[in-house]
Amino acid sequence: MEAKQSFYRKLPKVELHAHLNGSISQSTIYKLIKYHKDKNKTDFVLPEAWQVSIAKGEQRSLEDCFDIFKLIHKLVDDTNAVKMVTRDVVQEFAEDGVRYLEIRTTPRANTQNGMSKTAYIDAVLAGVGEALSGDSDIIVKLLLSIDRRQSFQDAINTVELASQYRDKSPPHCSVVGVDLSGDPSAGDIPELVPALTQAKKNGLKLALHVAEIVNNKDTESLLALLPDRIGHGTYLLPSKGGCQQFVDMVQQHKIPIEMCLTSNVKGRTVAGYLDHHFKYWYDANHPISVCTDDKGVFASDLSDEYSIVAQTFGLSNEEVWTLSEAAIDQCFASDTTKQQLKRIWKDNKPCSSN
Ligand code: 5GP
Repeated sequence: MEAKQSFYRKLPKVELHAHLNGSISQSTIYKLIKYHKDKNKTDFVLPEAWQVSIAKGEQRSLEDCFDIFKLIHKLVDDTNAVKMVTRDVVQEFAEDGVRYLEIRTTPRANTQNGMSKTAYIDAVLAGVGEALSGDSDIIVKLLLSIDRRQSFQDAINTVELASQYRDKSPPHCSVVGVDLSGDPSAGDIPELVPALTQAKKNGLKLALHVAEIVNNKDTESLLALLPDRIGHGTYLLPSKGGCQQFVDMVQQHKIPIEMCLTSNVKGRTVAGYLDHHFKYWYDANHPISVCTDDKGVFASDLSDEYSIVAQTFGLSNEEVWTLSEAAIDQCFASDTTKQQLKRIWKDNKPCSSN
């Protein structure tokens, strides 16, 4: 059993769907609480660490999950905190055997301490730099998130920021695209579509949360943009309330889907691991990647997620290896970086991975 677990830890992995503030470990949450206590001037009640993570076996409504992010955002409210959590999150992914990480985050301003959205992004890039200056062996890219609740003006501002940062990114971490996330039951998608269209025109990659709940109108509008990757895609299938046209379109354009099993089970958008849509898309040989979504909130790292996938759907070590390697082609990275990653997988492959 221990050898089995060490297989998932040693497995080189690609993480394509990780929200920065959802990925904060409990140990970093304790550091944040201490940081605020030391500052001694919070205008809010500090949360307890257990309030921002959903333990094994527990579940919450999706609404409750979004309330957790509000608590975390209170803790990560200045550039010192943003830099610290970014450094820790990147280091933890590296320690878990992740060799390529795309982290996504919603730029946030705080008028109370003068943090602007650009200062937020600079702090994230500085945090990545600190993590990489240690011995973390990981390639990191950044996506800027648009929250569905935001206005067109906010969304287009994020697109402009992403374009500017893409052009002037530091060598250690480039901004490669835009994510659309936030409470799937909120927001006005037709208002945001022109901003997402502009992102595409600017040459940014689009990773969009699509069909996280049943809302076929939004799904239709978002699929029409032909995103470069889909987050979740839980309700695309007709059997789940989606429709065949969605499935045909995703298959025809081979749009990769980011699968976040524990997030979907703990957030109750799927009934259980066995009911997860992973099986449909895996059996259809469609490009998919295994992801954590929010490793802190859902208390599950990427090795855990691979182990769960293997146990739930009976994948051999060889099949798990192939699944992890296939995610390389779904990265928002240059062909040179993809070749570099493929060499790492080749060099690390056990003689028999079973
Ligand atoms: P941040 O963008 O602040 O780094 O990460 C937290 C944010 O990511 C949340 O406030 C929310 O907008 C988004 N997020 C995290 N997990 C999920 C998820 O499972 N679904 C959706 N739609 N958004 C999420």
